[in-house]
Amino acid sequence: MADEEPGGAERMEVSTELPQTPQLLASWWDQQVDFYTTFLHYLAQLVPEIYSAEMDPDLEKQEESIQMSIFTPLEWYLFGEDPDICLEKLKHSGAFQLCGKVFKSGETTYSCRDCAIDPTCVLCMDCFQNSVHKNHRYKMHTSTGGGFCDCGDTEAWKTGPFCVSHEPGRAGTTKENLRCPLNEEVIAQARKIFPSVVKYIVEMTIWEEEKELPPELQIREKNERYYCVLFNDEHHSYDHVIYSLQRALDCELAEAQLHTTAIDKEGRRAVKAGAFAACQEAKEDIKSHSENVSQHPLHVEVLHSDVMAHQKFALRLGSWMNKIMSYSSDFRQIFCQACLREEPGSENPCLISRLMLWDLDLKLDDDHDRSISVTALSVQMFTVPTLARHLIEEQNVISVITETLLEVLPEYLDRNNKFNFQGYSQDKLGRVYAVICDLKYILISKPTAWTERLRMQFLEGFRSFLKILTCMQGMEEIRRQVGQHIEVDPDWEAAIAIQMQLKNILLMFQEWCACDVSLHVRLSRLGAVSRLHEFVPFEDFQVEVLVEYPLRCLVLVAQVVAEMWRRNGLSLISQVFYYQDVKCREEMYDKDIIMLQIGASLMDPNKFLLLVLQRYELADAFNKTISTKDQDLIKQYNTLIEEMLQVLIYIVGERYVPGVGNVTKEEVTMREIIHLLCIEPMPHSAIAKNLPENENNETGLENVINKVATFKKPGVSGHGVYELKDESLKDFNMYFYHYSKTQHSKAEHMQKKRRKQENKDEALPPPPPPEFCPAFSKVVNLLNCDIMMYILRTIFERAIDTDSNLWTEGMLQMAFHILALGLLEEKQQLQKAPEEEVTFDFYHKASRLGSSAMNAQNIQMLLEKLKGIPQLEGQKDMITWILQMFDTVKRLREKSCLIVATTSGSESIKNDEITHDKEKAERKRKAEAARLHRQKIMAQMSALQKNFIETHKLMYDSTSEMSGKEDSIMEEESTPAVSDYSRIALGPKRGPTVTEKEVLTCILCQEEQEVKIENNAMVLSACVQKSTALTQNRGKPIELSGEIVDPLFMDPDLAYGTYTGSCGHVMHAVCWQKYFEAVQLSSQQRIHVDLFDLESGEYLCPLCKSLCNTVIPIIPLQPQRISSENTEAVGQLLTLEQWIQTVLARISGYNMKHARGENPTIPVLFDQGMGDSTFEFHSILNFGVQSSIKYSNSIKEMVILFATTIYRIGLKVPPDETDPRIPMMTWSTCAFTIQAIENLLGDEGKPLFGALQNRQHNGLKALMQFAIAQKITCPQVLIQKHLIRLLSVVLPNLKSEDTPCLLSIDLFHVLVGAVLAFPSLYWEDTVDLQPSSISSSYTHLYLFHLITMAHMLQILLTIDTELPLAQVQEESEEARSASSFLAEVSQYTNGCIGCGVPGWYLWASLKNGITPYLRCAALFFHYLLGITPPEELLTNSAEGEYGALCSYLSLPTNLFLLFQEYWDTVRPLLQRWCADPALLNCLKQKSTVIRYPRKRNSLIELPDDYSCLLNQASHFRCPRSADDERKHPVLCLFCGAILCSQNICCQEIVNGEEVGACIFHALHCGAGVCIFLKIRECRVVLVEGKARGCAYPAPYLDEYGETDPGLKRGNPLHLSRERYRKLHLVWQQHCIIEEIARSQETNQMLFGFNWQLL
Ligand SMILES: [Zn+2]
Ligand SMILES: [Zn+2]
Ligand SMILES: [Zn+2]
Ligand SMILES: [Zn+2]
Ligand SMILES: [Zn+2]
Ligand SMILES: [Zn+2]
Ligand SMILES: [Zn+2]
Repeated sequence: MADEEPGGAERMEVSTELPQTPQLLASWWDQQVDFYTTFLHYLAQLVPEIYSAEMDPDLEKQEESIQMSIFTPLEWYLFGEDPDICLEKLKHSGAFQLCGKVFKSGETTYSCRDCAIDPTCVLCMDCFQNSVHKNHRYKMHTSTGGGFCDCGDTEAWKTGPFCVSHEPGRAGTTKENLRCPLNEEVIAQARKIFPSVVKYIVEMTIWEEEKELPPELQIREKNERYYCVLFNDEHHSYDHVIYSLQRALDCELAEAQLHTTAIDKEGRRAVKAGAFAACQEAKEDIKSHSENVSQHPLHVEVLHSDVMAHQKFALRLGSWMNKIMSYSSDFRQIFCQACLREEPGSENPCLISRLMLWDLDLKLDDDHDRSISVTALSVQMFTVPTLARHLIEEQNVISVITETLLEVLPEYLDRNNKFNFQGYSQDKLGRVYAVICDLKYILISKPTAWTERLRMQFLEGFRSFLKILTCMQGMEEIRRQVGQHIEVDPDWEAAIAIQMQLKNILLMFQEWCACDVSLHVRLSRLGAVSRLHEFVPFEDFQVEVLVEYPLRCLVLVAQVVAEMWRRNGLSLISQVFYYQDVKCREEMYDKDIIMLQIGASLMDPNKFLLLVLQRYELADAFNKTISTKDQDLIKQYNTLIEEMLQVLIYIVGERYVPGVGNVTKEEVTMREIIHLLCIEPMPHSAIAKNLPENENNETGLENVINKVATFKKPGVSGHGVYELKDESLKDFNMYFYHYSKTQHSKAEHMQKKRRKQENKDEALPPPPPPEFCPAFSKVVNLLNCDIMMYILRTIFERAIDTDSNLWTEGMLQMAFHILALGLLEEKQQLQKAPEEEVTFDFYHKASRLGSSAMNAQNIQMLLEKLKGIPQLEGQKDMITWILQMFDTVKRLREKSCLIVATTSGSESIKNDEITHDKEKAERKRKAEAARLHRQKIMAQMSALQKNFIETHKLMYDSTSEMSGKEDSIMEEESTPAVSDYSRIALGPKRGPTVTEKEVLTCILCQEEQEVKIENNAMVLSACVQKSTALTQNRGKPIELSGEIVDPLFMDPDLAYGTYTGSCGHVMHAVCWQKYFEAVQLSSQQRIHVDLFDLESGEYLCPLCKSLCNTVIPIIPLQPQRISSENTEAVGQLLTLEQWIQTVLARISGYNMKHARGENPTIPVLFDQGMGDSTFEFHSILNFGVQSSIKYSNSIKEMVILFATTIYRIGLKVPPDETDPRIPMMTWSTCAFTIQAIENLLGDEGKPLFGALQNRQHNGLKALMQFAIAQKITCPQVLIQKHLIRLLSVVLPNLKSEDTPCLLSIDLFHVLVGAVLAFPSLYWEDTVDLQPSSISSSYTHLYLFHLITMAHMLQILLTIDTELPLAQVQEESEEARSASSFLAEVSQYTNGCIGCGVPGWYLWASLKNGITPYLRCAALFFHYLLGITPPEELLTNSAEGEYGALCSYLSLPTNLFLLFQEYWDTVRPLLQRWCADPALLNCLKQKSTVIRYPRKRNSLIELPDDYSCLLNQASHFRCPRSADDERKHPVLCLFCGAILCSQNICCQEIVNGEEVGACIFHALHCGAGVCIFLKIRECRVVLVEGKARGCAYPAPYLDEYGETDPGLKRGNPLHLSRERYRKLHLVWQQHCIIEEIARSQETNQMLFGFNWQLL
């Protein structure tokens, strides 16, 4: 530095001499006199250089150079030291106050309803989690990008502006920190730098010369380099632009697409570089080509490369400025000052005004649409209260904004100077709204103190604003179309939208007014008149003028209702809707009613009513002599009269506006809520939606709701609702002015029904209204003026007159309501003041005779007559109420003046009471009669119902769960002598098969048929699916095609099973086939084919619409009974030893046979010693045979069809009826389905047999009987082959080459396969035989015992010795057996298995581990054989279960006795198992070994507080891309993986098709079926396969028991355990596919979604 000469400013033109490091540059800048000039000069040299490659920029390099050569030096210059170090210091000191984190799109932001100054004040996730607001009433929202965290901004928060990490002085107070880094020097530097930076940004942003730069920047030789630049606009579609570019530039589609995307993203794009002429030519070309495809040419400009570069940099510099500002609020202040500084000696307004004017111009100027917008900047500046106030005071910003609006508005004005938005696009108006938004930001925080200047400027601004309102008054006038219907519906949205936009502005103006006392009086008047939109000078204030417009509006509404504007189309109807809708009504409809109330209080009541009659054009209609036969006209009159009466009711009765009636804001809200809840109980969100919001989006609902309603929690589905408290019912006003027509009639109906149920009369008189404020007190005079009396009397007379049609019951009801209001008013007044002071004489007027004619009647007389008209029965109670009210008022009048008449008075009261009692008694009698009648009908109904259920039994059974023992199917099956039967399923003591004649009704043809093997088949609709519900190894890679899979043995991890479920609905096979064909045919014509995949046999159950893909044939159980004599004889001979020998002999016999034949390779090896069997080949037949069952062809056909489906879906292969794996898949799905159901029953804590749903029961029964029959569809040799492989696992002398080790198979699958395949050993060439019952019973017993022993070993080998089990018992017999058994086994494994484990522990673990297997076996044998299980398994008795299982399955309760009993036979087997090297290997890999009982799967744990999940999502980074683009993190509820959904980066190719990350994940995680939670949206989605999915309510509820999909409401959400549990059950019951199909059936909306890319 030292060698730098002073006065360098003069020499700076020599660029080579510029300092090279940021530090040096900074100190060189420091020495310059005029920073602005130096800075510009510097930029002039560098910027065009850096941004030279506009056509094909290297963005990374660009950014690097900017950082290096511009930003870093600037920061050095600002901080006076290394910026990184300084920022680090800032962070650790108190001065670093603002978080300032800039939000990315999709990020969650939090606001605090208790503490935020306005809803734009938000916190980032980290700050929120560390702030006090976490425990306040917060709101969560998803950012659309842009905006920043307001943590640390003391002006944004009422309390708690800092989170823990941004709290000043948090990071200790070391000496270093005492020197605040934001010291004077830095501030001084900022004062120096910011104005230059801001000025440059503004100058370049608003620079409009295309070829020239400002002279200060024009220092280099001007080059001849131009760009043809295309700008974004709203007239052209993507395709238009691409087309035009391709034509004009003669470029490839890809290049044109590239340009177009860039234009869309950045707003503009250079599409050609070159000399001016060339660019100009391209420009014209593009324009003309684009003009060909649409009426507007594209917006193209030719810009000099230097202009382009500087403008680009200006934007970048802006975002740098933003970053710097986020470091400290001091910086922000300085920035604002810089923006506001007026240039000395210049005509120009301050920078910000220039920028704003320019921005407003842009926003409003359609043809000059540049991308660079300062909107984001304005939010930042205007919402800083001090700055906003400053802007108003010093810059008169309100006027500036409104004047700007006014400048451009003439374009939108018609010849009457009213707005007319016809023909303008919404986009264009969007810019008007943006300007209005600026105004909103300015007004958002009310001033705490007023200065004279502020007041002046505010008033001036307000006056400008009123000018805008003037243009709105009477805008878009419409003329009633009398002849023809209008041709085009006019745009109406624009006018309504602008009303909505201005609504909040108006409210805020009023609030500003309210907070300044001196303005209050004048402006509150203005506020009230604001709807008039006209600045009426007070001198010529005329009430009629005031009333005119509101009245016209209301008349228009009435005429629309009377269908007089039918020919004006929908547009008008929509406008009328919005006029009264909650979003607009405050500023429109409500204000109009208030205006009329003002009018009524100021005008003579008769004059007022006459005016109303006139405007409604009803003067004729009330003419007594009117006689018209024109039905249409009568109808029209009637509607108009009703509408007018309603408005009159509102004018007199609606006093719930502070200032109109004596009410508080709270009471107003309470009343709104009461009336909503009178319609029906409602959820919180529905109430909130129906209440008007203030500018902070608050309705005030929470403050009052608990005073009028009670919250009713939701069940497992649905949502929580609020119910009105009984004491609030009395406030119900049938003619509540915010009721729509439907709401009105619903509420009336509800309230009458309720009163009826409570045995009360059905009168619904108005509740006593609150008192009017003094200014409005004269409104009530409308009630008792002569015209009103005339109107009422006319209506009553017409109702009595049988010839008159000019009345309706509705009209009558309103007349009653008005009467009631009048009487209530008089009563209230009389109760408050002495009689002589009450001038309100409604009673008197109503009692007067209508005329002097002979037959003249007063109103009471008319009422008495009305009471007698039969058609008006429904109004009787109300008339009675009114007549009583007349009496009451009369007595009140008399009581005070006629003291002597007290007796007569009390008499009348007595009379009154007598009649009252009489009526009461009468009502009671009627109610009793009605009750009896109801009862009778109910009895008839239930008789009918019973009949219906009887005839459609199956339909009902399958949908309802069996409850309790009475309905239990088991019970039904058992005959009276059930107790005599043995309840043992296996071995010699086996009980009888309990069968009963089964007659089923086809759901399609409704015909009954008995299920018999020789009959035509009946079938159950069913769905076969892959399942990971039981997996112990989630995410295990799945074979995408099962071509080479061998499914005979199931892995013990049960990773992928094949589940067969049924909805339990029965059809004839023939009927089903016809149905399926019909569906196929019709779907060829339908659009929504993807509902189900017909190709793979999918269809919806015709009755319950479950998704099915096959049918299970229903085959009856074959009754089996064994006689005890035979059994004993056989039992003597057939020991396990002998049984094994017989089986082996048979196998070896077959083996030799086959060896002779063509198929010699059945892989059977005999261990030594057993080869020379003395048993002969046929000995197996000696223990009993019977002939095979003959099934009907129809059944066979269905068996083949179903078996093939299981094979096809289970293995994901094309159908092949001859594949040898078909029987394996049959056994596999039997085993797996039983395991899944057993697991589910355990999960739900239900008994094994008593609680099965009927669909489960029917499904299992059909499945097992099918499995028995399945063997007929394939060669027995094939089944034998499979059987031998299965048996080789448990037969000591049989081992095939590929016998897996004991620890790598699921033994229950082996059991099921072996039992079902075993009959194949009875196959003979000549006769078709099967084992007899006795023979089978032994086979089952021995197979089961062998496999059980194998399983015991499995359990003991894999015991987890580290589990803390409480010692439950002393050394029991079982424990001792366990110890000694394990000691024995440990020898065979060479000590591989520890034997130090105590016996009791072994026994406890064994018993625990084997129970699921025993339960599965019990289910299996029950459905196979139909033998009644013991009582204990039908009820929920945990302690009895084990014993009952053992007894049913013929096991000793001390299972180790099995080994003792068969020791000699089993020992070689044990040795073989334990010595298997594969087994020892398995044991070593402790982590992957499967232990028993297997762990029960559940959905992942979710946090209670939803924001924790959002937090997780915010840390989510896509594993495959580094960019910060918006991601959709999705949580897999099966495994907890977070995936990058709906994004190309994480798509995968499966079988040549692209699938999204979720679909790909689901393939492995859930075998195609999965449950995901879209974290940012709080939505659950269920998916299946590649193309199906549906939304499902998330298990998170807000405190009002409602879900919040999309986080639209943003209330705090908490986990609902019940709902999550329900979701878990949907999964475990294998109902996901069903849910999806059902939701697609009902909600076709979701078809648009491409699930494949999820
Ligand atoms: Zn933050
Ligand atoms: Zn913070
Ligand atoms: Zn708070
Ligand atoms: Zn049928
Ligand atoms: Zn069904
Ligand atoms: Zn997963
Ligand atoms: Zn990704």
